[in-house]
Amino acid sequence: MAVNLNFSKSEQVARKVLEECGLDDPADYPMSKIIMGRKAFYEEKPLIGKEGEIVSLDNRSIITINSNIEFEAKKRFAAAHELGHYEMHRTLKPIFSDTEADMLNWYQGGPHEIEANEFASEFLMPTEAFYKECEGKKFGPKVIEHLAKRFKVSKTAAILKFVKRGNHPVFIVYCKDNKMKWFKYSEDWQYFSLFQKDQPPPDGSVANELFTTKKIYVNDELEQQIWKFDWFKPKYRDEEDSRFYEYCLFVKSYNYSISVIWEK
Ligand SMILES: [Zn+2]
Repeated sequence: MAVNLNFSKSEQVARKVLEECGLDDPADYPMSKIIMGRKAFYEEKPLIGKEGEIVSLDNRSIITINSNIEFEAKKRFAAAHELGHYEMHRTLKPIFSDTEADMLNWYQGGPHEIEANEFASEFLMPTEAFYKECEGKKFGPKVIEHLAKRFKVSKTAAILKFVKRGNHPVFIVYCKDNKMKWFKYSEDWQYFSLFQKDQPPPDGSVANELFTTKKIYVNDELEQQIWKFDWFKPKYRDEEDSRFYEYCLFVKSYNYSISVIWEK
C-alpha cells in the first residue's frame, strides 16, 4: 500500500483511542457515545461565538458542542477536536474554547489546536480506511464529495486529509477575503508555487475569478481547466506551459476558499 505511514504524535493518540474503543472506523457511531465511553461528559447547547469547548476540573471534563451548528459533519468534527483536547491536553489547561475560525486555521493556530485537528482528522478518517476509499478512483471533485459523505466530514476536512493521505499529488491554497493565507501540498508534488501571503490569488486562477467576479462553478463544472503557470513557476528556461486543473471550494459564510490544484 502506497500510504505514507509516518504518524504524528496526535495521530498516534487518535489511533490508540480508536483501538481502545474497538472501532476501525467511527462513521456510523455517534461522537457523544464515544466521548461518554472515554469518561468525559458530553452535551449540546447553544454557545455564542464558539463551536465547542472543554472544561476540566478535578479529574472531570465536560465537552460542550454548540447545538446551533447546522451540519452534522461540522458537529462531529468539533466533537472529535474536543475529544483530542481531552485525550492529550486536559491536564495542561483547564479550558479550551474553540471558534470556527480556530478549527479552520489549522496551520495558524497554536500547537494544541494543530494537534486537536490532527487528532480529529485521523479519528474520523483513519488513514487505511481513507486510502481504501481513494484507491482506483481518478482524482477530481467527485472523489472529495465521496470522501466527505463516506466519513461524515466537511469537504474542507476531506481535502486536508487528501493532501496528506490521498492517492494523487495535489496542491491546495486557502484564501480568505481575496487574499492567499496558506498552502499545503502532497509529498510527491513537484512544482514551486507563486504563493505570496496576503496577496490576491494569481490571475487566471479559479480562486481569483471567484473573488473578483463572484463566479461559482457547480456540478460538472467544479473541475476547471487552468494552466500550470497560472499558479506555478517554470522549473527551467523555455519550459512549456501545460494543462492543470483547479477545484475551488467556496465557503460563503466565512468568505474563504480552498483551491485544489492537480495535473492529470
Ligand atoms: Zn481547540
